[in-house]
Amino acid sequence: MSNPGKSFLVDTFGRPIDYVRIAVTSRCNLRCSYCMSEVHEDHSQGDSVLSKQELLAIIEVLVSLGITKIRFTGGEPLLRNDIVELVLEAKHAGIRTVTLTTNGLLLDRFFPALVDAGLDAINFSIDTLDRELYHTITRRDEYGRVRDNLDRLLESSAIPVKLNVVLMRDINCDDIPRFVALTRDYAVTVRFMELQPFDDNQIWRTGKFMGADKIQELLKNSYPDIQTIRGHATQYFSYTLPGHKGSVAIIPAYTRNFCGECNKIRLTSDGKIISCLYEKEGLMLLPLLRSNAGREAIAGLFRKAVMKKPVDGKHAARDSVRTSMSEIGG
Ligand code: SAM
Ligand code: SF4
Repeated sequence: MSNPGKSFLVDTFGRPIDYVRIAVTSRCNLRCSYCMSEVHEDHSQGDSVLSKQELLAIIEVLVSLGITKIRFTGGEPLLRNDIVELVLEAKHAGIRTVTLTTNGLLLDRFFPALVDAGLDAINFSIDTLDRELYHTITRRDEYGRVRDNLDRLLESSAIPVKLNVVLMRDINCDDIPRFVALTRDYAVTVRFMELQPFDDNQIWRTGKFMGADKIQELLKNSYPDIQTIRGHATQYFSYTLPGHKGSVAIIPAYTRNFCGECNKIRLTSDGKIISCLYEKEGLMLLPLLRSNAGREAIAGLFRKAVMKKPVDGKHAARDSVRTSMSEIGG
């Protein structure tokens, strides 16, 4: 879509910013133990949540700032009944790539409409393929529906699919072969991810952390003929097995520092712009929006957030983040 007034966002360290992750809610229908407490304090209630109209006004401004990619996340983004319209309108506004991260529980309700709306790709989070363990990790007995939705998604091959699997020591490492087996028949990327220090309970401090080197060792020992393929962006380790349609990636989200190639900022469901995953306080966009401040003021706040991006946020904040990923927009 042509836009004569278009500018591009570049931070003070010369990194172009073209990607925004938008948490459309901080509510969730699961309670993954590494993410939320059972009683999760929900910071996006009622009026404090960005409405569809507000989100669309923001997205139009983002297009004018040169943003080309948006990921809708949360909390659980499919808890918003207007999620399909958000995808559709974001595409219409000119966002080239619109993706979604979901726990998949409600995917049967939305998937065909999301594809029709132009969704480009989906990340499906599932940490185990064992019913009981799923219940233990998520604190909800929903494996049946989630697994059915995963199977349908894999069979559909309508859009690219990545599985997000957070690996935890002594919890779900025995699942590795089950996930790798999925890559034999389906062109799916299974991403084994390191636990990160963002959760209400700080589970990551309890010895459950599995580093990328350990995951790599497990994979190479179990699959001697595994082949390294080129990864991109955060997927520093990517592999495939002979004859498999899909691939396996290891995301060293904690042990490696990706700050140098960071191209994104985040927006929380209560309208805060977060310039860095490790930032503790964002810039409040909501009051500006609700005072009818206009497009240029909104654009100005995004520019300010980009200029706030630290060169190495992770190093500065190490070990001290206690906000659940569901609030930040994981
Ligand atoms: N509810 C959706 C889902 O689970 O896909 C979207 C939001 S969730 C916060 C996004 C991703 O963050 C999920 O893949 C989840 O596994 C991951 N995540 C949450 N807390 C994490 C943590 N402490 N360490 C690593 N990944 C985490
Ligand atoms: Fe919900 Fe996603 Fe957090 Fe699990 S990881 S509790 S599904 S927001």
